[in-house]
Amino acid sequence: MDVVVIGAGIMGITFAKIAKQLAPDLNITIIERLKHAAGSNSSVFNNAGTGHEANCELNYTPVDEEVIAVEKALTIHAQFNVAKQYWAYLVKSGVVKDPASIIHPTKHCTLVSEESVGLLQMRYKQMSAHHFFETMQISEDFDEIKSWIPLTMESRPRTQKMAATMIKHGTDVNFETITKQTADHLIKQEGINIEYGTHVYRVHKSPSGSWLIECTQGPDRVQFRADKLFVGAGGGAFPILKRSHIPSRTRFAGFPVGGRFLFTEIDEEMAKHYDAKTYGKAAVGAPPMSVPHLDLRANNGRHYLLFGPFATFLPALEKGRSIMEYIRATYFHDIPNLLNVAREHFPLVSYLFKETFKGKTAMLKTLEDFAPGLSKRFEWRVIQAGQRVQIIKDGDLQMGTEIVVSDDKSYATLLGASPGASVSPEVMLRAVRELMPKIFKTSEAKAALEEMFPVSDLDKLIEDAETYRKIRDDVNATLKIEAPPQRQLEESA
Ligand SMILES: Cc1cc2nc3c(=O)[nH]c(=O)nc-3n(C[C@H](O)[C@H](O)[C@H](O)COP(=O)(O)OP(=O)(O)OC[C@H]3O[C@@H](n4cnc5c(N)ncnc54)[C@H](O)[C@@H]3O)c2cc1C
Repeated sequence: MDVVVIGAGIMGITFAKIAKQLAPDLNITIIERLKHAAGSNSSVFNNAGTGHEANCELNYTPVDEEVIAVEKALTIHAQFNVAKQYWAYLVKSGVVKDPASIIHPTKHCTLVSEESVGLLQMRYKQMSAHHFFETMQISEDFDEIKSWIPLTMESRPRTQKMAATMIKHGTDVNFETITKQTADHLIKQEGINIEYGTHVYRVHKSPSGSWLIECTQGPDRVQFRADKLFVGAGGGAFPILKRSHIPSRTRFAGFPVGGRFLFTEIDEEMAKHYDAKTYGKAAVGAPPMSVPHLDLRANNGRHYLLFGPFATFLPALEKGRSIMEYIRATYFHDIPNLLNVAREHFPLVSYLFKETFKGKTAMLKTLEDFAPGLSKRFEWRVIQAGQRVQIIKDGDLQMGTEIVVSDDKSYATLLGASPGASVSPEVMLRAVRELMPKIFKTSEAKAALEEMFPVSDLDKLIEDAETYRKIRDDVNATLKIEAPPQRQLEESA
């Protein structure tokens, strides 16, 4: 069977690897417009690298009239556990040589000021009762919080009442290295062809029933044929869907939200000193992905701090692509949907406009509020992050992701951006199942599935504490996710 995957980001590459493991006979071609893998949102500093498992993100536990909902947090945590199983498999099977190149243990903390202390306590009570978050700690003690996340507290007046939660075994994930190492392996070990520098401008079905994928390759026009087509092209998936003639294409439009970060390099000693990702509370009207956070990042043995993201409203499909491409990908039938979102989400749209024009001084002021003294302690520069294109479906703005599949199950695409790369293996496993259910039936496929995903059933992980703990500890050992050294020393002291 001929399979074409459009996009060599973490989604497309993960899709190809899982499919090939299940059915080695598949003839897979990956088409990528850039000259290498992971050049768009999966590139290391185009995202924040948080291994999203709901340890610290308040937006995964919405509050409605004093009732806190934890279901979304449980699902995301379970999905991340499935992702870790798959990455541990990449390490065990030699695709990833050194786990430290892809994943780093770091504390995940939430920090709030006086008016949200009650909210944090309520969240802590609900979450720590579940085995996923049983190691979560909470504190309102200034010095204890300072020992967890020193950079946010060291210059803060002691009179400011703060509260924080902390989980030791959070992670910083380098989605770029996962993608690049897997892409390299696919080419060298699995014989998969990646056509770099090849831009897909149209896909359509031939009279014989197979997909024709029309591309430009430099000055040339080239064409590929596929029995099954998976589009994992980030924001670039929208125009491809629009031109696919799949009936559901008119239900979807894209709502672009860009991001910027404050960025600085730090030395190893400072990295050990801070060793955390700290999430705060989003401003009123801000989209959920604009929750401010101060992140320790690691890349190639060097350490960085990121603060942000500062949202931008740039109508583009991906970072580096022109506004014209977004306009060309917008059809008449999209206009009512876009207008509906502008009307229903007016505070969001006006927030995004304001944020777009925020200068560096204002960004440093936001950092200063989050972590007093930090804006002057390091030399910060502003970097452009990736571009999220959120889904507008039937006129409603959605913050999650969706796999859209054609009725004949020959075309599947991933739309949307959140929680994103962290859950990519679980989402791509579902996409492979949607598109090619038959390849799961052989005994070889069942063995391969078991090897990649010992427990992929989210409900089992949510309900069965013993199974979850065993899997968590096994994958943490393979991925070398141990408690950050600072805390271990404190405990043994
Ligand atoms: C500011 C920001 C912060 C984020 N932080 C986090 C985080 O902390 N944790 C997390 O888990 N996720 C985070 N994300 C989300 C994460 O980056 C994405 O979910 C993930 O990278 C998406 O992977 P992808 O493969 O779908 O897209 P991409 O990595 O963008 O890959 C898509 C590929 O398709 C190619 N392509 C597009 N159009 C075409 C075409 N027509 N022809 C050929 N090729 C094409 C592109 O060149 C690209 O290489 C963040 C995103 C942003 C923007």
